[in-house]
Amino acid sequence: MLFHGAALLFLLAFVQLALCVEDYYKILGLNKQASDKQIKSAYRQLSKKYHPDKNPNDDTAKDKFVEVSEAYEALIDPESRQIYDKYGHEGLKQRGQQGGHHHDPFDLFSRFFGGGGHYQRGQPRGHNIEIKVAISLRDFYNGRDTEFQWEKQQICEECAGTGSSDGVVDTCHHCGGHGVRIIKHQLAPGMFQQVQTQCDQCGGRGKTIKHKCPVCGGNRVVRQTITVPLHIDRGAARDSKIVYENEADASPDYIAGDLIVTLVEKEPDIEQDNPEHVDGVFFRRRGDDLFWREVLSLREAWMGDWTRNLTHLDGHIVRLGRKRGEVVQPGQVDTIEGEGMPVWHEDGDSVYHETQFGRLFIEYIVVLPDQIESGMEKEFWALWQKWRGKIGVDLHKDSGRPETPIPAGSEQHDEL
Ligand SMILES: [Zn+2]
Ligand SMILES: [Zn+2]
Repeated sequence: MLFHGAALLFLLAFVQLALCVEDYYKILGLNKQASDKQIKSAYRQLSKKYHPDKNPNDDTAKDKFVEVSEAYEALIDPESRQIYDKYGHEGLKQRGQQGGHHHDPFDLFSRFFGGGGHYQRGQPRGHNIEIKVAISLRDFYNGRDTEFQWEKQQICEECAGTGSSDGVVDTCHHCGGHGVRIIKHQLAPGMFQQVQTQCDQCGGRGKTIKHKCPVCGGNRVVRQTITVPLHIDRGAARDSKIVYENEADASPDYIAGDLIVTLVEKEPDIEQDNPEHVDGVFFRRRGDDLFWREVLSLREAWMGDWTRNLTHLDGHIVRLGRKRGEVVQPGQVDTIEGEGMPVWHEDGDSVYHETQFGRLFIEYIVVLPDQIESGMEKEFWALWQKWRGKIGVDLHKDSGRPETPIPAGSEQHDEL
């Protein structure tokens, strides 16, 4: 019995040991079907989140950072991913002994983002880049996961940012690696001026490359159109900004700046943005409120007894209408509470979104008929004549204005 107990304990310890290394997919928050793009995106987010420079004195974060780098490296390489899927950590370990290699997690980080792997104070930082992405009102209303493309400067993958096809980078003989040369100008006999100029042989880098990388031509960076995922919150403000930290142009010489995306509202495109033909795409937005113009005929405005079904941006119906005898004046505005934009909340999607909406304003435009059937015209005329005689009000007579124009020159001017 005692022996069994000890065996069980041993077994438990073994299981514990095996569990120590967590599943690589789990570390990145992905499932086994994850695409390369998803793996890259997960690494991008998590490595920044757990970077030791952002979490000083936090060993857990540092461990996480290393874990995330390992998981990324194992899964982004098709061959090692295949081994991992089949044989797990053990399989990769064996492969590693046969000459596989682990990158320094900081090195990996710098290859991804540019810079030296650390967010160092004083280290040069690239410019922030601002771009505008046009979003339809419908996507502002419903929220959406979409993507956009832009041309980003990236560290050349072919040469890992060295610019050299064989990895050999020499010190520039011309400037001795300083990147600058001192030129002496003789101003007058015995008088010299020293001018410091950028070395024209190495372009100021202090290094020369004999065999330039064929992909980047020795520039170490390439411009490529990349696709970036974009999450639009329900009710996000027009012109609100989304910051992608350190995702602007990358370079081996500096830490990439931030990519700042401004969500601008685009004009509705009837074909592209409105397959269901909802009226809502033509709403106009101000803050959390929406505006709509509804056209009524003379009869509707005057006599009432009409309804309209207005399809909102998510397809639900807002019913407008008046009973018989209810008049709508031209330019009159109805306020409908709770039919405006969802109110955005900084905590993200929450109960507030389900219950808080702005207002919808309906402005009525009344259109008078400019043509009328002659029979109808006669009937209306007769009707008006009859009622004019009985109770008609003559606005002209009641105004107190003269019947005929006053002859010119008779106006009395005040003497100055
Ligand atoms: Zn030089
Ligand atoms: Zn290259």
